[in-house]
Amino acid sequence: MRARTRPETPEVEVVGRFVDEEVCPQADAWDRAENIPGDVLRRVGELGLWAPFLPAEAGGAGLDMVTLGRLHEEVGRGCSSLRSLLTVHTMATATVQRWGDDEQRERWLPVLSEGTTLGAFCLTEPDHSGSDSTAAGTVAVAENGVWTLRGRKTWITGGQVAGLFLVFAGTATGMSAFLVPSDHPGVRVTPVRHMLGTTASMLATIEFDDVRLDPSALVGPPGWAAGTVMTGALDLGRYSVACGSVGIVRAALAASAAYTSARSAGGGLLRDLPQIRAKISEMVTARDAARLLCEKAGRLKDAGDPATIMATWVAKYFASTAAAKAASDAVQIHGANGCGPDYPVARLYRDAKVMEIIEGSTQIQELTIADEAYREVSG
Ligand SMILES: Cc1cc2nc3c(=O)[nH]c(=O)nc-3n(C[C@H](O)[C@H](O)[C@H](O)COP(=O)(O)OP(=O)(O)OC[C@H]3O[C@@H](n4cnc5c(N)ncnc54)[C@H](O)[C@@H]3O)c2cc1C
Repeated sequence: MRARTRPETPEVEVVGRFVDEEVCPQADAWDRAENIPGDVLRRVGELGLWAPFLPAEAGGAGLDMVTLGRLHEEVGRGCSSLRSLLTVHTMATATVQRWGDDEQRERWLPVLSEGTTLGAFCLTEPDHSGSDSTAAGTVAVAENGVWTLRGRKTWITGGQVAGLFLVFAGTATGMSAFLVPSDHPGVRVTPVRHMLGTTASMLATIEFDDVRLDPSALVGPPGWAAGTVMTGALDLGRYSVACGSVGIVRAALAASAAYTSARSAGGGLLRDLPQIRAKISEMVTARDAARLLCEKAGRLKDAGDPATIMATWVAKYFASTAAAKAASDAVQIHGANGCGPDYPVARLYRDAKVMEIIEGSTQIQELTIADEAYREVSG
C-alpha cells in the first residue's frame, strides 16, 4: 500500500475547539435543514477525524481506541448527527482494514481515510427486525463467479452521501458482507427524512436491484460475516455511540448549568434550588461514570482483549440511558424554553432517544448483559 501523509494526528483539545467554534453554533441549523454541509465534512477530513485509527501506511495516525473514543465524545457533545456519520464511516473503514484483502484495502482505505469517500453500514431492513441482525431478506446469489445482490436496506445513516456501502446479505452458506459503491448500476438511494433525532445524519433507504458484483466485492469468505465482520463492526459502532452519549450528557450539563445561572424563579436563581442542584449533580456523576466505562472498553480494545465486547455493551447501555435521562432533565430545567427552538436541549433530547435504539437497543443490551451475568455465576 502506498504511504500517505496525514495532516495531523487529531488531538482532543483541537477537536474540542473545532466543536466549540464550528459545530455547536451550527448544530441546530443542521438539525432543521436535515443536512450537514459538505464544507463541514471536508473540515472533518482536514482534522484527520474520519479514520485516525488506521495505521500511517493506510493514511491514518495509528490512534488508540481510548483517544478515538474521546474524539467521538467531543463530536457527540456538539452534534450527534455528525458523530453518527463518523460512527458508520468508522464501522465501514475498520471492516475494510481488518477483513478486506490487499486489493480492497488499496482501493478503499486511501479515500476512506481522507473522507473523500464516506462509508455507510447497511444491515437493517424494512421487513425484518433490526435487532435480529442475522435475519436478512437481502440475498446475494453467485453464478459463474458473479454475485447478484437483491434487496432493500433502510435507516442507513449517511446513505444520502456515502460513496461506499458495506452491505450484509444472505448467501447459500450464510450471511456475507459486500463492498458496494453507491454509484454502482442497480443501486438506488432514497432519502429518509423527518426522523425524531440525529436528523442531519442524512439517512436513506438503499435498494439493490439485481446488482451484479465481481468476486472482489466480497469481504472474506462467503457465509462468514455473521460472527466476524458484523460482530466486529457493530462492536466498534456501539463503542462510538457510547462515547457520543457521554458527549450528550456533557452538552446537557453545560446547557443546564448556564441556563440556571441566568434564570430567576421565586426570587432567586434557578441554580440555588435544591432540586435543580440534584439534577446537576446527577449529570456530573453520569458523565464521569459513563466515561469511565467507555475508557475501560477502549483500553480492552487497545489490548486486543475479547472482554471488550461485553465492556462495550455495558458502556453503551449505561451511557445511552444516562444521556436520555440527562437530556430529559435538561429540557425540564429549561421549562418552555427547553421545548422551543432557541436552546440546544430539545435537539439533545431527541438525539438521546435515538442512542437507546441504535447499535443494539436498550432491551437487547439487557438480554445480553444478563446472559453474561448468568454465565459468570454458573461458570
Ligand atoms: C437514526 C437511526 C439511524 C440508524 N442507522 C442505521 C445504519 O446506519 N445502518 C443500519 O443497518 N441500521 C441503522 N438503524 C437501524 C437500527 O439499527 C435499528 O433501528 C435497531 O437495530 C432496532 O431495530 P428495529 O428498528 O428493527 O427494531 P426491532 O428490532 O423491530 O425492535 C422493536 C422494539 O422491540 C424490542 N425488541 C426487539 N427484540 C427484542 C427481544 N428479543 N427482546 C426484547 N425486546 C426486543 C426493541 O428493543 C425495540 O424496542 C438506524 C436507526 C435509527 C433510528
